[in-house]
Amino acid sequence: MTQRIGIIGGTGIERPDPDAGERIVDTPYGQARVWVGGDHADEVVFVSRHGVEHDIPPHRINYRANIDALRQLGVDRVLATFAVGGIADDVPPGAAVALDQLIDLTHGRESTFFDGGESGLRHTVFTEPFCSSLRAAILDRAGGHGIAMRPTGTYACANGPRFETAAEIRMLRLWGADVVGMTAMPEAVLARELEIHYAGIAISVNWAAGIRGPLALDFDALNTMRARLLPLMLDVLRTTKPAGCSCFEPSA
Ligand SMILES: [Zn+2]
Repeated sequence: MTQRIGIIGGTGIERPDPDAGERIVDTPYGQARVWVGGDHADEVVFVSRHGVEHDIPPHRINYRANIDALRQLGVDRVLATFAVGGIADDVPPGAAVALDQLIDLTHGRESTFFDGGESGLRHTVFTEPFCSSLRAAILDRAGGHGIAMRPTGTYACANGPRFETAAEIRMLRLWGADVVGMTAMPEAVLARELEIHYAGIAISVNWAAGIRGPLALDFDALNTMRARLLPLMLDVLRTTKPAGCSCFEPSA
């Protein structure tokens, strides 16, 4: 199987490569729409998480189809971007965070490939939800691409699509969350279940509810970061064959 690299683009990063070709992939979970391109023919598979028209809300994304399609196309490593709200004081709009932990507050989403019956039951090890090998490469390269990357960050995944209340954000801060978003779960665990190395970079686009300032998304911050983020992600993915991480620890 051809080894390819994958990028899952979040809000603001809907379509990074205008030359990439669209492909519809049939999966047991429905169709996934991906774009295949890159400098070397069909090397990069791109998923636009919310659709290129940005019309798929977080709770309606077909996470299983997206991840299954990446696996079918031979993708063994993925970097994902997330537009988030900053909870920690040092994550203002425009800040970039190399995520290392997750808190999952979602509900009602199809969150596993091991759903009983023929697909069986598996308790996936998820102690470290992001690939440490890809994370190390992100931290190593970010400065060279002009990005001041916060080296760690806990992402709280709210269900959305509404924003959180001020009390919810106060609770999340007490729990140790640095940023809040709506899409990292179940995406991250589904990638783990299909043995895809997966890491995520969060870009703060506003302060979380009740922290300070308005909740309006700061697209200027996102646009500034986008120009640097894509070269960084391609650099990391192309040059890092993940090794020494705990992604494929045997599951129960
Ligand atoms: Zn890994």
